[in-house]
Amino acid sequence: MNFETFNLDSRLNAAVKTAGYTSPTPIQAKSIPLILTGKDLMGLAQTGTGKTAAFALPILQRLLKGPRRKIRALVIAPTRELTEQTHKVFGQLGRKTGLSSASIYGGVGIQPQISALRRGVDVISACPGRLLDHVQRGTIDLSHIEVLVLDEADRMFDMGFLPDIKKIVRHLPVSRQTLLFSATMPADVRALTKQIQKDPIRVQIGASAPVDTVSHTFYPVESQSKSALLKTILDRISTGSVLVFTRTKHRSKSVARQLEKSGYGATALHGNLSQNKRQKALEGFRVGRYRILVATDVAARGIDVRGISHVINYDIPDTVDAYTHRTGRTGRACETGDAFTFVSSQDKDPVRSIVKCLGSKVTYAATEGLVRGEKPLEKNAFRRRTGRPRVKPAAAPIRANGKRPKPKMSTSRTKAAKAKARRLSRGKGTLGADLLMSLAGQPKQAA
Ligand code: AMP
Repeated sequence: MNFETFNLDSRLNAAVKTAGYTSPTPIQAKSIPLILTGKDLMGLAQTGTGKTAAFALPILQRLLKGPRRKIRALVIAPTRELTEQTHKVFGQLGRKTGLSSASIYGGVGIQPQISALRRGVDVISACPGRLLDHVQRGTIDLSHIEVLVLDEADRMFDMGFLPDIKKIVRHLPVSRQTLLFSATMPADVRALTKQIQKDPIRVQIGASAPVDTVSHTFYPVESQSKSALLKTILDRISTGSVLVFTRTKHRSKSVARQLEKSGYGATALHGNLSQNKRQKALEGFRVGRYRILVATDVAARGIDVRGISHVINYDIPDTVDAYTHRTGRTGRACETGDAFTFVSSQDKDPVRSIVKCLGSKVTYAATEGLVRGEKPLEKNAFRRRTGRPRVKPAAAPIRANGKRPKPKMSTSRTKAAKAKARRLSRGKGTLGADLLMSLAGQPKQAA
């Protein structure tokens, strides 16, 4: 199948060629003809499947006819990065059509957005919060909307955007085409589709699971040794761009800093950075100034960088959905990629659910010998791991005989625990693959 079968305008076909798309991806093959008929669509598609072009091309085709410089298509997405990315795809695919697009999100000045809206645009990509701000200020006219797209709807729910979205939808014409894309279809999303869509046609590309073009390897390792393991992997494996995920903003900053100090080209991307710094980090990663980007989940939403060969989960994500989103940053649009996940003994629950979803696709790496001596990344990691209070318990009162009773915890156990902590902090605390598999409830498998 090729793009000509959709009978798109020649200017759009030319832009598709320039973008380097030779044949439609499965979601494009299924969705483009349906969207062109004007029907509502509910697309259950994973990240990295080409879904942006799947809705951008038929929308652009529709907008070629009719008035210009009135907002006729609105795409709502959960993050600034995804909003920018969508805006870019519209710009790229619509470059010969004279149609214009703008992006709207918070964290930057509102005035330039107001000026752009005054000049007139045809397509808007927006985050819900700032869009609602414009609606309430009366600086945006949504009365000409013909197509509404809700992208990554499940994530918008997770991020608490549902009330904002409902308020925005009230300002849109009732007669419109509504397209909703989501990696998963939880009950909340299904309920929303009933409210805002009319008999949507459901298009599903594969199950809601990680993409097939990515290999999945779990590395058993204790927290203290993750930093050393990461460096060993970066040294030993030839990679393109590498995206590393951490659980918190603080950790993304400290891991990036550690890598930088050790001479790796790395930078961090997290929600505490100003929009300017986020864009700088992302652009630096995109053009190859940094080989490694250390990011948190929220900051990484919508990252679309070609040539990410490896996604490394420095901290395992909590849900299969988050795993799918993270690993979908590699192996995009039919290229292949590798996902490595560092797994510690306390990660039992997420390991189980991810393994349940991936099944035999998971390979377990033996990390023994991979980790060199290395100072632990976190101070007091042992204490935090065992969940013991940091505060020393008060000494027991002195007995009538003038002696104190022996502490309840036997000193031998305390000594053993301390010795283990020391061993781990010296970097020898890797877990065996067998232990990891037993954590995941898996039968033994070749490493
Ligand atoms: P998306 O799922 O929209 O984020 O797209 C993922 C990546 O696939 C982006 O880098 C697109 O430029 C790319 N892409 C989209 N459609 C195609 C296609 N038909 N052929 C090759 N690459 C594509």
